Amino acid sequence: MLKKISIKKINDLAAALMEKGTLLAPVKEAAGHNFAEIKDPQQLDLDYYNTIVSPKTVFLPQKEDFVRYETAKPVAEAQPVALNIKATFLFGVRPCDAKSFQIMDIHFHASGIIDPYWQQRRDATVIFGSAFDLDIPAQDADFYQTLGIGAADPEGSDVFMVKKGEDLLMKAITPQGEEILARLAMLGEGKPADKKYFEEYIKKGSQHQTRNMCLDPQVIAKKLEDIFHSGEFWQAQSAACLSCGICTFVCPTCYCFDICDDTLFSRGVRRRVWDACMFTDFTLEASGHNPRTHVYQRLRQKVCHKYSFHVRKYGVISCVGCGRCTRYCPVNIDIYSIIQDAMKA
Ligand code: SF4
Ligand code: SF4
Repeated sequence: MLKKISIKKINDLAAALMEKGTLLAPVKEAAGHNFAEIKDPQQLDLDYYNTIVSPKTVFLPQKEDFVRYETAKPVAEAQPVALNIKATFLFGVRPCDAKSFQIMDIHFHASGIIDPYWQQRRDATVIFGSAFDLDIPAQDADFYQTLGIGAADPEGSDVFMVKKGEDLLMKAITPQGEEILARLAMLGEGKPADKKYFEEYIKKGSQHQTRNMCLDPQVIAKKLEDIFHSGEFWQAQSAACLSCGICTFVCPTCYCFDICDDTLFSRGVRRRVWDACMFTDFTLEASGHNPRTHVYQRLRQKVCHKYSFHVRKYGVISCVGCGRCTRYCPVNIDIYSIIQDAMKA
């Protein structure tokens, strides 16, 4: 099913989706775009490159309360925080980010232990993927092409969107996508010329140039195993790192979290908060021992987790080449260059 709408009427589309559930889309903030709930249909604008923080926040919020309790009362009286799941439309996800959800699913349900918070949100969410504009060169940091992801790749989306002049073409990719497109009365039918344009755009997207190197997951996994103990290599790569954790917080495939108890007087809350392997105390043990006291050990962990351990355990690289870690690192540490240097080491 291929539908279309004039971009001038995009606010009507936003209003219709808001009637059917929660609409989340890139919204312009002071520093750039980020996914946020659309409260006014006029907020929906298609003029963005990608968001600062990845859309993983929709399924794995940075902070989430699980249980509220009173310290003087029995554990059995603790109250779980209701999830309050609603139908959600996640609009404008770039292909690399749509792919990242499939990688994250491995950890949150596909490997056997189901995280109900992640799973229920995933089940309630329809993903409207959106092609990068092929007339705009990819930003310097991007390298999704290296990971086999095209700039107009519909994989991972329920509906995939391509701009065609003054129109937005919307194709259903999954049954959930079919269902929602059928319910949006303001959409027109795509014509044979639209179908042809859509298909050619997808193909063209696979050639859209980002930084690109030939990378075999098994080869890079082995290479990183071989240089794991090369202190010289990892110290050189991490010399400027500030252990700020920005690279992990913006990343669509970083999922480390901590469970903490926050109490004030007699009231307490148990919550999940994002954590990061780049932080100094991430591996601090109760005994006081910390196996990763050096910056190079933490950067090595991040890189090897994505490009070696993850490949060995699950068969895929846990990175989608979105370029966020490089774009927002305050000292320009670039994971693509680290992998390139590792291949040559
Ligand atoms: S490691 Fe960097 S490039 Fe890879 S998915 Fe994470 S933020 Fe994107
Ligand atoms: S963003 Fe850069 S400086 Fe900060 S932890 Fe990551 S690599 Fe280090």
